[in-house]
Amino acid sequence: MEGKETDYVICTRCGRHRAHSEVGIRKLRDAFDLHVAAPPIPPGVCWTCIREDPALNSALGAWLTRYSGKLVRPIREAIARPLEIIDDFVAHFQ
Ligand SMILES: [Zn+2]
Repeated sequence: MEGKETDYVICTRCGRHRAHSEVGIRKLRDAFDLHVAAPPIPPGVCWTCIREDPALNSALGAWLTRYSGKLVRPIREAIARPLEIIDDFVAHFQ
């Protein structure tokens, strides 16, 4: 499922990939807050850049470790696979 354009911006770091905007991040956090703490994903930074940033990657890794369970598998898949997976995952909670 495709998200709304306002949910995304071009990554402010690499300028190549799609990243969640402030609005998109808020929606993501709202979705996660129903269950567990939201993942530490900054707005305007794509998944590729998050993985390549030691601090962000570490924070996300810690989050994944902490919230093992039903949410971990879809999140791991989201990180390992294209951004569309995240869209589907977020849409699932909307
Ligand atoms: Zn990027």
